[in-house]
Amino acid sequence: MMECPQCGNPMPIKRKELGYHVCINCSTESAKRGVPIMRGSGDHTWVDLEIMTQDQFEKYKKLDQEQKKKKD
Ligand SMILES: [Zn+2]
Repeated sequence: MMECPQCGNPMPIKRKELGYHVCINCSTESAKRGVPIMRGSGDHTWVDLEIMTQDQFEKYKKLDQEQKKKKD
């Protein structure tokens, strides 16, 4: 652990290694998550890991559910 230069709270050194300079509380970026997304069709499908903000993820989830409903 190291000290966040902004607030002085402990932050993981790993976070610094990832290119962040302040702790999660000080970061202005919203939380991000990796979402596995199926691409292609038929025999040519693969899974992409897309990085989204929580906001984008909520929209994606909604869209995905609507598409699944249409298939039924
Ligand atoms: Zn901080």
